[in-house]
Amino acid sequence: MARVVVLGGGVSGHTAASFLGKWLKGSEHEVVVVTPNSKWNWIPSNIWVGVGEMSKEEVTFDLAPVYEKGNVDYRQAKAISIHPEGKEGEDKPFVTVEYTGQGKEGDSEEISYDYLINATGPKLNFDATPGLGNGSGQLGDHTVSVCTADHAIHASHELNACIERMKKGENLKFLVGTGHGMCTCQGAAFEYIFNIEHVLKDAGVRDKAELTWISNESFLGDFGMGGIHVGMGGYASSSKIFAESLYAERGLEWIIGAHVNKVEEGKASYELLDGTKGEAEFDFAMLIPPFAGVGLKATAKDGSDITDTVFAPNGFMKVDANYGAGAYENWKASDWPRTLQNPTYKNMFAVGIAFAPPHPISKPMSSPNGTPITPTPPRTGMPSAMMGKAVAASVRDMMLDGAAEPTHTACMSEMGAACVASAGKGVFSGTAAAMTVYPIVPDFEKYPGVGRDMNGTTGEIGLAAHWVKHLLHFVFMWKAQLKPGWTLIPE
Ligand SMILES: Cc1cc2nc3c(=O)[nH]c(=O)nc-3n(C[C@H](O)[C@H](O)[C@H](O)COP(=O)(O)OP(=O)(O)OC[C@H]3O[C@@H](n4cnc5c(N)ncnc54)[C@H](O)[C@@H]3O)c2cc1C
Repeated sequence: MARVVVLGGGVSGHTAASFLGKWLKGSEHEVVVVTPNSKWNWIPSNIWVGVGEMSKEEVTFDLAPVYEKGNVDYRQAKAISIHPEGKEGEDKPFVTVEYTGQGKEGDSEEISYDYLINATGPKLNFDATPGLGNGSGQLGDHTVSVCTADHAIHASHELNACIERMKKGENLKFLVGTGHGMCTCQGAAFEYIFNIEHVLKDAGVRDKAELTWISNESFLGDFGMGGIHVGMGGYASSSKIFAESLYAERGLEWIIGAHVNKVEEGKASYELLDGTKGEAEFDFAMLIPPFAGVGLKATAKDGSDITDTVFAPNGFMKVDANYGAGAYENWKASDWPRTLQNPTYKNMFAVGIAFAPPHPISKPMSSPNGTPITPTPPRTGMPSAMMGKAVAASVRDMMLDGAAEPTHTACMSEMGAACVASAGKGVFSGTAAAMTVYPIVPDFEKYPGVGRDMNGTTGEIGLAAHWVKHLLHFVFMWKAQLKPGWTLIPE
């Protein structure tokens, strides 16, 4: 009997565990998931929770019954450390976990494994910016967030309070974007500012609001992917033009190339790529924090700390990427990992946000003062789920057929992604920007010029895209609950 342990039950880990549960059913092997929350959250729909258009219940569900029917042994716990060589007198690798639920809160357990899939996602590193965090790693009091369902509920209450103030005649300032020079996930903030604009219009107070976008992108529409050129009406149009026109049409101001270095009550201080410094005042601010690895430790058999061997300095797990690519000029699409296997311990894999990228996708930049202001690479939902499924398939083949090497790949320079950014949730009143990108990481050798396949890289704006976003919400909630036909729904 062999055991695969999946750390993290989010988008990538839940996908991996669900497929492994199905594929290993009836065999002697077992699947264990270790994840700290009792509920699964379809994070992309938190945007709608954050403007009061969806409830927490609509974007979450209980994991325990789903894993029970899915042949997955669920532990509501968080992983603390990995012991890939076992310990003295016992060769079997194991993870140490600490329970956060199931009536065992605070208890530790050592769970042995034959295969380990690290899908722990990001640590929301609020404390990287003074005032964005509260000093204990949590969101501070000055801004709101939509990164978790609970954060989004809080954000919607704060937004409502602002709407009430504006209805009484006050003029208010809104600041939305990234809260540090090394953030990713600009797309989520982009979508949130559009939804705020939409609800302010609906509430009849748009004229009372000044909306400003602040971001570490060197140009509007970079999205951490170095921007994209989309095929539109037979022309290649840059995402910079696409984004700028969307912002201009809605009367949004923008500050780009910004490293937010301090947040205080009603004020964010920032440094720009040209070295100048400024302050943005706000009555309401949603600033995405930078992401880091969740802080797992790794220990060798003799008890020595091998965290640096297993993890990159940013806390993400090393996989089969080329981490020695060096300067931007040397970067290649082939630097990106394919099997997502850890190079030192071949029975360990990392998927989704948990793997260490070889380098950014956008060109690295810094201010004349040496402050890096560069978006870090996005690992959005679709590629994260595809990585989870590919690694699950490799592990299945290793467990059932004795495959010596991973049999499946999911490489960000060989796969595409679709992203739909909505504005508004009503059936007829909403609109959305839908983009497809192929490949996510540009490959300038294969696609000279813009680095991407113009047939697979598209952009549309309109009501139809808005319906697609709606449909995706229901389809992915259905799939994640392993309801009939779930395996037929693509990642
Ligand atoms: C507001 C917002 C909107 C977004 N919108 C979109 C969108 O429209 N489209 C899109 O494609 N992507 C979107 N994304 C990105 C998408 O949510 C991520 O790409 C995706 O969630 C990454 O999957 P993951 O499995 O790597 O991480 P997650 O989904 O974050 O899952 C990580 C899991 O690991 C668990 N975990 C944490 N620490 C530990 C530990 N120590 N031990 C065990 N488990 C642990 C967490 O609790 C969580 O369950 C959005 C993100 C945000 C924040």
